[in-house]
Amino acid sequence: MSHTTKQILNNPEIFLDDLTDSTEHILDIEFDARFEEWKARGSDKQVRASSLGTCIRQAYYSFNDQAQRTPVSDPLARRRMYMGFINEEIMGKIIDKMPGKTHGLSSEEQNKFPIHVDLLNDEDIHCAATTDFVKEYVENDVKYYVPIELKSTDVYKWKDFTYWKYHLKQLLLWVYIAKQNGLNVPYAMLIYTRRSTMDMKSCVIAVDTLYSKMGKVVESYEHWYPFMDDLVNRLKWSIRNKQVPAMPTDVPKYICNTCPHLGKCTNNVD
Ligand code: SF4
Repeated sequence: MSHTTKQILNNPEIFLDDLTDSTEHILDIEFDARFEEWKARGSDKQVRASSLGTCIRQAYYSFNDQAQRTPVSDPLARRRMYMGFINEEIMGKIIDKMPGKTHGLSSEEQNKFPIHVDLLNDEDIHCAATTDFVKEYVENDVKYYVPIELKSTDVYKWKDFTYWKYHLKQLLLWVYIAKQNGLNVPYAMLIYTRRSTMDMKSCVIAVDTLYSKMGKVVESYEHWYPFMDDLVNRLKWSIRNKQVPAMPTDVPKYICNTCPHLGKCTNNVD
């Protein structure tokens, strides 16, 4: 709604209303663009890592019920996610200053290799994963890729915090697909930024490079590989046999509360 200068000068409520409208307008623009990007990335045969990393059942229902794609509408979720986008933007500038080629700085790259990787070995089901940034390095004419998954958080116990498992699994799926496709991945980085202070914490996934260090949060891809392979194969089996996967035990309740498939899941619908 447009107001006259006189109205604005006479009434600070109008200023505040404009602030709210303007915030929603900016969020609409951003979310519309992201939603289009997200839709373009999918196909009716695709399983997304963001879904499979979170919950195997969610991936199963999303695969069978692609029509449920809708833009995010919850006002709090929108604002929280928007702060995540801003964090990505800032981190992109930082990461781009580091040596190596940076992929992921522009939105068109979100649907392209190496930000987006696909497992095309099965005709009926394609596992796909997208990460925020990928650093590409060339050594002796050989290319190496380091995926970087960024998260921002307001977690209360920051000092003790390491990572959330569903974020780790999301990045592990990118690595899983990249490795199945024959890419060189020395390691992968899950990086958390604390919104209030911009402190950063990392979890390194050691992949081709063997790495461990006291005091550092490190996960080994070799250790996780059987789990990821089993996860992907269980999902494919469930989809092909039209049987909902067993209820996972590691999905936080707050994720279920916002899950679009909560009703079906609670009733164990296949
Ligand atoms: S409600 Fe929870 S367990 Fe069920 S599909 Fe959704 S996220 Fe998974």
